[in-house]
Amino acid sequence: MRPLAREIRAAVDVDVVVSLTRDLVRLRSENPPGHESDVIAYLRDLFRTIGLGDGRIIEPAPGRQSLLVATGDGAVSGKPVLLVNGHVDTVPVRPDGWRHDPFGGEVHDGRLYGRGSADMKGGIAGAITALQVCRSLGLELPCEVAFHLVADEELGGAHGTAVLLEKGLIAADACLDPEPTGLQLCLAERGLMFARVTTRGVPAHGSEPSKGRSAIITAAAIAQVLHDNEFPQTPHPLLGTTTCNVGVIRGGSGPNVVPEECELQIDRRVLPGDTQQSVVRGVVDRIASLGLSRGTDYELVVDMFCEPSEIDAGHPFVGTVADSYRAMTGRLPGITGLPFTTDARFMRNQLGIPAVVFGPGKLDVAHTVDEYVDVDSLVTAVSVYAHIFAGFTGTQRLRDVPSHSSIDTGVDGAQSMT
Ligand SMILES: [Zn+2]
Repeated sequence: MRPLAREIRAAVDVDVVVSLTRDLVRLRSENPPGHESDVIAYLRDLFRTIGLGDGRIIEPAPGRQSLLVATGDGAVSGKPVLLVNGHVDTVPVRPDGWRHDPFGGEVHDGRLYGRGSADMKGGIAGAITALQVCRSLGLELPCEVAFHLVADEELGGAHGTAVLLEKGLIAADACLDPEPTGLQLCLAERGLMFARVTTRGVPAHGSEPSKGRSAIITAAAIAQVLHDNEFPQTPHPLLGTTTCNVGVIRGGSGPNVVPEECELQIDRRVLPGDTQQSVVRGVVDRIASLGLSRGTDYELVVDMFCEPSEIDAGHPFVGTVADSYRAMTGRLPGITGLPFTTDARFMRNQLGIPAVVFGPGKLDVAHTVDEYVDVDSLVTAVSVYAHIFAGFTGTQRLRDVPSHSSIDTGVDGAQSMT
């Protein structure tokens, strides 16, 4: 292990990252309803004590707060800016079935339990603790580290990162997103479209169905053809194929009436390269295979579209994160893709900021009962983040450095996290 890695390893105090994660878990921030201001107030105080000042709070709706704070201004210091973007909201808790207090942050057998422990208060605590480690070692960082700790990621980010984007508040040379990836480097994520398909029928008396046309029967045929997912597609090496789930069906007024209207709600997950237009067209084409036309037989309304995104595996910032992982663990990191979206898409797609999603906690426990984060993975995350902060000199300059790992997305350990 090289001297810097050894120093960082020695400076990581497990109690610091555990108690910070626990404090954040205890501050409820479930979304819906969406209430991030308690956890943001706590974080603002913490950054003040670390010496980063007051930062800036963005509050587009009451209680929906995001905090922007940084070690310094890259435009003034001339240093590259490394952004840590993390969401402080969590999915809600239904207490049934939890064996541990969902807001207790208890540690048992090396696991810290609670809502948000994995997704993603553990990752946020890890990144903040990493900055404290760098400071405790007296390291002069070659970059400014900025934290955007945001609201509303769990419901699409409209009150969080999307607002920062609209206001022109995001500028960075690279972005680290400490979502739970089991400490694998996540380089791609699927996009999603939530849409409603409404069919129309001709009502008639339930005793004579042949005199009408059933909106439910039309909807059932559409549900089947979408569920079969026979869309033309090429699988993505990290993400596999697209999916289409028909999650809600609602229609009819009673057993004795041929139904006049039926609504389907669909969740279509798509791959890099897909746009809202192409995804809508794909759905319309599949329904057309039944002989049904949009506007005549049914209506389609898009409720939400989040773009897919990816970063090239050969990008220098991927090499930076991989090198730090290897320096601190002695192993090559796994490379993966996420079956759902994160705020990294805003960086990659709208801003052209290279973004790697990499954090402690396993994806398959996020959003579940007894969500937890392994204390060991918290400690590893702190050390890798500290190593990245201590070595980040910008992605432009790294292009000339030949020693960075070349990451092949076909390496062993590459797998989808579904
Ligand atoms: Zn998350």
